[in-house]
Amino acid sequence: RQGSVIVTGASSGLGLATAKSLAESGKWHVIMACRDFLKTERAAKSVGMAKENYTIMHLDLSSLDSVKQFVDNFRRSGRPLDVLVCNAAVYQPTAKEPSYTAEGFELSVGTNHLGHFLLSRLLLDDLKQSDYPSKRLIIVGSITGNTNTLAGNVPPKANLGDLRGLAGGLSGLNTSPMIDGGDFDGAKAYKDSKVCNMLIMQEFHKRYHEETGITFASLYPGCIATTGLFREHIPLFRLLFPPFQKYITKGYVSEDEAGKRLAQVVSDPSLTKSGVYWSWNKTSASFENQLSEEASNAEKARKVWEISEKLVGLV
Ligand code: NDP
Repeated sequence: RQGSVIVTGASSGLGLATAKSLAESGKWHVIMACRDFLKTERAAKSVGMAKENYTIMHLDLSSLDSVKQFVDNFRRSGRPLDVLVCNAAVYQPTAKEPSYTAEGFELSVGTNHLGHFLLSRLLLDDLKQSDYPSKRLIIVGSITGNTNTLAGNVPPKANLGDLRGLAGGLSGLNTSPMIDGGDFDGAKAYKDSKVCNMLIMQEFHKRYHEETGITFASLYPGCIATTGLFREHIPLFRLLFPPFQKYITKGYVSEDEAGKRLAQVVSDPSLTKSGVYWSWNKTSASFENQLSEEASNAEKARKVWEISEKLVGLV
């Protein structure tokens, strides 16, 4: 049978390119889990996805109620779940003030990390029940969370500190909206959320890989300088960033190529190793990459997992 894969944030950028690549292969039915139905429908049509290869389902990761409703709707659809791809993200590099999710968490960490954390915890049962030979849970990471790389060292650097802000609920009321308890910084909040994504992937691997056989993986697909992720950046940055990445850092990758890379992590028979953070070299060959010290800190992974469980109401 065709595999059944959920891709969050499939309405643009990497998510859309991945959905397209999987749908084109004919091997996958893609559930595009998105907050804007019409935009997603137009996007799917614009890249030529055939109707029978995708279903759009509403999901707003900045609302835990929406996450739960999505899970209910998905279950009612009767489709199996073979692979879950947590891809959606918000990035607010120029925001002066924090904004918040429905439950009052700072928006970047609330959406990119907490929304996906609840989604993947709830859908773990569905993955377990699938009879697909290679079940996977993939959480998109980023080089920006890796302080062991040049790009990861551009300030403000990711730093979760002692997690006091996360433990305080990131509400910005009596506590800080930042994980480390510091002052709000939109670019840092995004990087912190990506470190959480990579830590949670490793914690999933530790807790569930042996018992379930599910492959847990993360990846850095390359710098896709043209996606909507940079939509809130200043115009000069948006003008110069793509050529800078193309000609100076040479880390640039097209949306199409990045989509093919993520599609590999979904379905390539050679990428079944669990607990791995995949990257690609200049000739587009995949390799197991090293994570920064903080993004591979087992103790921090456990703590982020435990605090997040409380914040999203799982315990
Ligand atoms: P885009 O902005 O193009 O795509 C982000 C997607 O997330 C969109 O579909 C967006 O929906 C969706 N989204 C945002 N907020 C929510 C929400 N509350 N609920 C549901 N969906 C939401 O960015 P990219 O394609 O670049 O980013 C995709 C992933 O790739 C992210 O995880 C990012 O961290 C990662 N990444 C990107 C890199 C890059 O260079 N671009 C490099 C490394 C990693 P909508 O269309 O409605 O806005």
